Amino acid sequence: MAEINNFIKTIMQNDLDSGKVDEIITRFPPEPNAYLHIGHARAIITNFELAKAFNGKTNLRFDDTNPAKEDKEFVEGIIEDLAWLGYKPANIFYGSDYFEATYEKAIDLIKRGLAYVDDLSQEEISKYRGTLNEPGKNSPYRDRSVEENLKLFEEMKEGKYGDGEKTLRAKIDMASPNINMRDPVMYRILHINHHRQGTKWCIFPMYDFAHPLQDSFEGITHSLCSLEYDNHRVLYDWVVDNCGIEKKPHQYEFGRLNITNTIMSKRYLRALVDAGKVSGYDDPRMPTLCGLRRRGFTPDAIRNFILGTGLSRVNSTVESDQLDEELRNDLRLKALRPNAVINPVKVIIDNYPEGKVEWLDAPNNPENEEAGMRKISFSREVYIERDDFIEEKPNKKWKRLALGVEVRLMKAYFITANSVEKDENGNITVIHATYDPETKSGEFDGRKPNGNIHYVDSATAIPAEFRLFEPLMLDETEENKDLDFMERLNPDSMHVFEGFVEGSLKDTKPLDHFQFIRNGYYCTDKDSKEDKLVFNRTCGLKSSFKL
Ligand code: ATP
Ligand code: MG
Ligand code: MG
Repeated sequence: MAEINNFIKTIMQNDLDSGKVDEIITRFPPEPNAYLHIGHARAIITNFELAKAFNGKTNLRFDDTNPAKEDKEFVEGIIEDLAWLGYKPANIFYGSDYFEATYEKAIDLIKRGLAYVDDLSQEEISKYRGTLNEPGKNSPYRDRSVEENLKLFEEMKEGKYGDGEKTLRAKIDMASPNINMRDPVMYRILHINHHRQGTKWCIFPMYDFAHPLQDSFEGITHSLCSLEYDNHRVLYDWVVDNCGIEKKPHQYEFGRLNITNTIMSKRYLRALVDAGKVSGYDDPRMPTLCGLRRRGFTPDAIRNFILGTGLSRVNSTVESDQLDEELRNDLRLKALRPNAVINPVKVIIDNYPEGKVEWLDAPNNPENEEAGMRKISFSREVYIERDDFIEEKPNKKWKRLALGVEVRLMKAYFITANSVEKDENGNITVIHATYDPETKSGEFDGRKPNGNIHYVDSATAIPAEFRLFEPLMLDETEENKDLDFMERLNPDSMHVFEGFVEGSLKDTKPLDHFQFIRNGYYCTDKDSKEDKLVFNRTCGLKSSFKL
């Protein structure tokens, strides 16, 4: 597996060498307001792999200080996704567990004249804050005495005021060129039920105050986040410097990961689920980790994909095909290669005895001897892919079945197609063929067939549904680039086929991975029933990437 190597690793190495830190402690801090997506995998893998590279450790910390949208379901989903990716946090913490300690730090700031209670409304605060070109204006409440601030803040905590009536603001600099430093709000009032704290608290710390404190409480040395926090770093440092913290954590930013033809923001993913455009967060078309898992992507493929895309201080957009390529690399030798016919047509071998079933040897993975052998059945009626037959052979390049043409059914016999039956619409319902008993696979090399096609024997076939996927979002074009994302959804992102798989798959369980011969990589879906299996196509056999 690829090793992590990036600019943050260099920073960490330097910090260890210079004695600035004596170990590396990182954290992954998701807000439990949705399921994780593959963009989060960049943050997870970066934090865990970097700490691991220095024998350090990584905490999972739920950033649950914004109670409005948080839910236990998401907490559990995130823990499951992390474990699936193969990472075990040193600790699992909750930002809300630090409410008391954070509150004390706020009192401390007030006592030192570094924070004040403001009566301005949210709108007034933004107006007073000014713009990039225009300095902000002091709030008329900015110069309240320490005693008054302590009393009011206490009352805020006691629930004396309604939502938004008062805030606690840091007293920094209303003329700072960095708007985040213009007396940022540190606490707001919200009378709401918190998923862990219940109604114990009605004041909640803002991210910019809570996060650096949480990092310092946990002894985080390198606090890694995505680029949009870049101009919050000065405030991060202000909090750390002014809250009496000895071992100071430092924030470092990296570029966000985006993937073509999908959307990655939790807000949009939630909107898709709520609007019923997908079956849930784990719909195999979703870029969520649970969706990718259900689709058939593996932790190794995701990790190698993330490490392969590198890390820099620039946001990047990567072709989704690169993830497919990592999946193929991971599974090429590992996955079994059974036969599945996705769009079947029946072949009756008229000269094969009725009722007879033969068992033939087939390798589980022709590229990997260690995968062993299995028996596949052969009888008078088999299914082949509709695409593998054409009535009249069009040209020399046609290496499949046609009337009067002989092909090998893989690991079985040569057959020649002789005639077809059709329904009233002209669709072929049955192909009549004859086989040559001399041509059993492994025992015959007397002549060459016009190709090798796979089949599923009807005597042991299991009905199966195959779900094939296209990107969730249409390509961005001149015409659609200004459309709302809901209008850029691909209306045709899932195709369902009804076919058969060979009998050896009868005990398959959700998340089993296969390469269906000549068809692609597939994964058993949780919707599978004993008499009707369901498979998701993870990706094709070859790259479709075009420059
Ligand atoms: P979104 O913006 O998609 O709603 P978020 O950034 O608000 O996600 P958090 O739960 O706060 O989601 O994310 C936890 C961590 O994952 C943060 O450190 C964040 O920077 C990082 N992260 C989220 N999305 C990406 C991405 N696309 N690429 C890299 N890191 C990401
Ligand atoms: Mg966030
Ligand atoms: Mg966000």
